[in-house]
Amino acid sequence: MEESTKQPGPEFVAIAIDGPAASGKSSVARSLAKKLGYLYVNSGSLYRAMTWVFLKQGIPTEPGDAVRGFLKGLDINCGARDGASTVRIDGEDPGDELQSQDVNRNVSAVSAIPEVRELLVAKLVAYRELDNIVMEGRDIGSVVLPDTPYKFYIDASQEVRDRRRRDQGQRDEIRERDQRDSSRAASPLVVAPDARVIDTTKMTVEEVVQEILSELRGKGLDLDS
Ligand code: C5P
Repeated sequence: MEESTKQPGPEFVAIAIDGPAASGKSSVARSLAKKLGYLYVNSGSLYRAMTWVFLKQGIPTEPGDAVRGFLKGLDINCGARDGASTVRIDGEDPGDELQSQDVNRNVSAVSAIPEVRELLVAKLVAYRELDNIVMEGRDIGSVVLPDTPYKFYIDASQEVRDRRRRDQGQRDEIRERDQRDSSRAASPLVVAPDARVIDTTKMTVEEVVQEILSELRGKGLDLDS
């Protein structure tokens, strides 16, 4: 048999963390990434940045020719800084605007547009080539990183999630957002069949991170190299 002349590419590890709004997945993903020295990728910030630019430019938040034309001309730059993903659109960093009430109210509609998802999923997949990653979102285990063996779905009771959201100083309608995110046709929020589900209702962030680390070790992932 001929020996392959192909150079082996870097084998980066990808960990997927999905869950509904205010389930605590961002805190867990950020802390896990820091402990492991992996890049933390917040996929929600891409959908929020896209929503921000739709609103700024007055683009209708529904599928159609106007959206397709608009997306073609958009420069979306996804990078990394200080261990976390970054996003600039047409050279601008949306900053705190990502968490505005206007963005909260419109992000589910923009995220449900198939062309938006197609574009942003390609950007997210590209992070895999960059580094070891912990990526959080709604469709990471099911669509963005379907072949990773390391998938988690973080949940918590509705009451606890409402409280966590209020504690973040946010008052948006997470129930409505979850309902829309779960019922849309294009890659809805689902539990990937091979994801480990963790109910964090009575757990601290550190306890959830420890549970994930122990699951990763159990799957044979070398966490110390
Ligand atoms: O994670 P975060 O709550 O910031 O996400 C904001 C919104 O972005 C979600 O409610 C959802 O509509 C959208 N989103 C998505 N797919 C992802 C991540 C976020 O549709 N992978």
